[in-house]
Amino acid sequence: MKKLGFLLALILCLLVFPKSVDAASSGAAIYLDGQQLNLSSGVKVDNIKGNVMIPIRVVSENLGFDVRWDKSSRSVTVSSSDKSVRMVVGNAQAELDGELVDLNLPPVLSGDTTLVPLRFVSQQMGLDVKWDNAAKAVYLTSPVPSSPDAGTSPGSGGGSGTDSSAPGNNADLSTLTGISFSDNRLMISTEGTVAPSVFPMKGPDRIVVDLPNTAFSEAFLADHVMNPSSGGEMAVTDYPDVAKIRFALFSHSPSTVRVVIDLNGPASYGVTHESGLTIVDLNAEGDMVIPPVPPVSGSGKKIVVIDAGHGGSQPGATSVTGKSEKVMNLDLALKVEALLKNEKNIEVVMTRSNDSTLGLKDRVKIANDLKADIFVSIHGNSSTSSSPNGTETYYTRDASKQLANVIHKHLAKATGLFDRGVKYSSLHVTRETKMPAVLLEIGFLSNKGDEAQLFNEDFQNRVAQGIVEGIKEYLK
Ligand SMILES: [Zn+2]
Repeated sequence: MKKLGFLLALILCLLVFPKSVDAASSGAAIYLDGQQLNLSSGVKVDNIKGNVMIPIRVVSENLGFDVRWDKSSRSVTVSSSDKSVRMVVGNAQAELDGELVDLNLPPVLSGDTTLVPLRFVSQQMGLDVKWDNAAKAVYLTSPVPSSPDAGTSPGSGGGSGTDSSAPGNNADLSTLTGISFSDNRLMISTEGTVAPSVFPMKGPDRIVVDLPNTAFSEAFLADHVMNPSSGGEMAVTDYPDVAKIRFALFSHSPSTVRVVIDLNGPASYGVTHESGLTIVDLNAEGDMVIPPVPPVSGSGKKIVVIDAGHGGSQPGATSVTGKSEKVMNLDLALKVEALLKNEKNIEVVMTRSNDSTLGLKDRVKIANDLKADIFVSIHGNSSTSSSPNGTETYYTRDASKQLANVIHKHLAKATGLFDRGVKYSSLHVTRETKMPAVLLEIGFLSNKGDEAQLFNEDFQNRVAQGIVEGIKEYLK
């Protein structure tokens, strides 16, 4: 055994040392937070037509992002729990948080690594990037949360180096990734195995959800204002039963997250828990555990998930007059919800019904976990040029094509804007959902004419009506 150990050590040495020699001789070096990255042999930083190209895999993996390479489509998807960038080799458009954005230069393959434009990475991954032409070195600095005195200059060298460990590596802990309240329902999305316990408490009335062996995900913490002792809270309006939602790390050992619904009086509720989605439903009658949705399977009630794009820390596109896309998306989605609630054969579920931050994965998860019948995502379009205008509808899978055609017919008529038609694109929410799913681009926020309409109350009512007519015709 001893001999084997020595041999292993020797092999490790041989493996490690040639690597650093290769990195040094490859011309350009990448530093992340003052530390040189150990590049795979043969991989180097390239300069193509004046664009510095860096290996996405190296940067992403060192930043703790999830990287997926799909050989057949030659696409690389980089995601955190609340952000997703999908790029295809040779394609000058990337999919960012579910929508298409232009790249200066498409990703290229170099050996078995995908190189992407440095500028794009810097903008989208929130990195500070500096290129030292003389030294042929790239300096990346990752954002330091709530530490204003942290130096961003790579010139300062090693620095304190106190926070070099990767975040949240406790493999045994499950994580809470999102909380939302809509339709008089609290929805808690989690990753890992979670067995929630839900119970009422009195004086004042409240419903407590304890998630044992669970912590907040890094992305959740980044998106919510948290007081170290008392946790954070979420305002709830428009629901007479509910005052607010609070959440906190209730206990450190064992780590337990507690979410509390503060009630304005006693209320009955039902609880549904299924693979990563816990729903406390205040619409349910009686204090009981209701079976997993769909709730009325025999009655032919269809579940329609309405997804208001972006939200919270992700405003989406900014309009020509400075308004945020997320506001238009939500306003319109709420109008669609109100209309669908009048339909006795339709059960409507909102992915978000307020200005909360929700990742693409969570949106898809809500629809898939609910085994929804259709998924409709609402967005506003944007372009770097002010001229493109009009309405378009996106789908990805063949199973969604008919829904796209039917809903677009009503949508285009309702907006009265230029009809850009139904288009195929591989977008996260329409690709990863398992039911017919469409993404509606109502109009262009970057176009003066479209924008003047998009935030208009009458226009939104008309468009909501059109979307609902499309949904009804498709569901029959
Ligand atoms: Zn959007």
